[in-house]
Amino acid sequence: MRNIERIVVHCTATQPTATVGALLNHFRSLGWCHPGYHRVVGPDGGVTTLLADAGVANGARGFNATSLHVAYIGGLDADGHPADTRTAAQRAALADVLQTWKNRYPRARIVGHRDLSPDTNGNGRVDAWERIKECPCFEAAREYANIAAHATH
Ligand SMILES: [Zn+2]
Repeated sequence: MRNIERIVVHCTATQPTATVGALLNHFRSLGWCHPGYHRVVGPDGGVTTLLADAGVANGARGFNATSLHVAYIGGLDADGHPADTRTAAQRAALADVLQTWKNRYPRARIVGHRDLSPDTNGNGRVDAWERIKECPCFEAAREYANIAAHATH
């Protein structure tokens, strides 16, 4: 297995009604031979595996070799503006995916895609104005700070 240093949370930057099939078509249209994410979580809480953990997904340039990527379908409101569009079922399923991965890869940090933006002013954190995109449209590192690895048997 690869060394997993971080688990990156994304939104698909689509309307919540987007389908997994449309997402895969989008990746193909970009000429990608690997999907952007390992797991995708729909508004109904359904989780689709696009790639096994051992595979390298195209989620965040420069970080992919040591990352796992999960996205919730959504992230754009009806006007096409960035928004946290997660449903209750989607929040629960996303937390489940993260807990499972954290158990498997205890040293991995959970971060939002936007937290991987360059720290332009070198103050040790990615400030809101430094974000190269809003993905996943919520504070993932803070929301999931309480997810700790549990021993599995
Ligand atoms: Zn992203």
